Amino acid sequence: MNETPNQEYKEIRVGVYVCQCGVNIGKYIDCESVRSFAEYLPGVFKARTFTFFCSDPGQEIIKRDIQELGINRVVVAACTPKIHEETYRELLVDAGLSPYFFEMVNLREHCSFVHSKDIETATEKAKSLVAGGVYRALNLEDVPLKSVDVLKSVLVVGAGIAGMNAAINLANQGIKVYLVEKEATIGGRMAQLDRVFPTDDCAI
Ligand code: SF4
Repeated sequence: MNETPNQEYKEIRVGVYVCQCGVNIGKYIDCESVRSFAEYLPGVFKARTFTFFCSDPGQEIIKRDIQELGINRVVVAACTPKIHEETYRELLVDAGLSPYFFEMVNLREHCSFVHSKDIETATEKAKSLVAGGVYRALNLEDVPLKSVDVLKSVLVVGAGIAGMNAAINLANQGIKVYLVEKEATIGGRMAQLDRVFPTDDCAI
């Protein structure tokens, strides 16, 4: 634990969680070296490594740190945010933190998968990405959630075939549609045709 964090960030306690993803990250990156590097970054209060941080026991570790150590910014160095960003944001909310005090660093796709033959390069790159994640975390601000009433109406500009189809589909979903057309008639290009392929139907 970094007991003497940089004074500039004394209100902020960043927790860094370096996920091994079993062997997916653990085999190609020296996770312990990344963890000990992260521990001394400005603002970092605690850095840990674990086999699977997205598992229930892994999430419990992060939650406990938030509640017992006062971690108030969370950096998870793991996989692509596409997979688990939401999981961790929900975990923060569960633990009583804003979901926006979270940063994810992609060690798996950006380091271990692409540098699988060079553990040293992968580890150095991982440290650099984690440092970036921590600096971003230091600058995070809470975003208050607001709900606003939405008017269920749509303006469709152009009453050609695409505009008319869009208008019909929207109207079928119960949405009020305003369809505007600059010409005197609707139909666009379609209205200029005689018959249409393949049915030979009248275009209008
Ligand atoms: S958080 Fe991502 S990297 Fe970590 S164990 Fe889960 S899937 Fe693997």
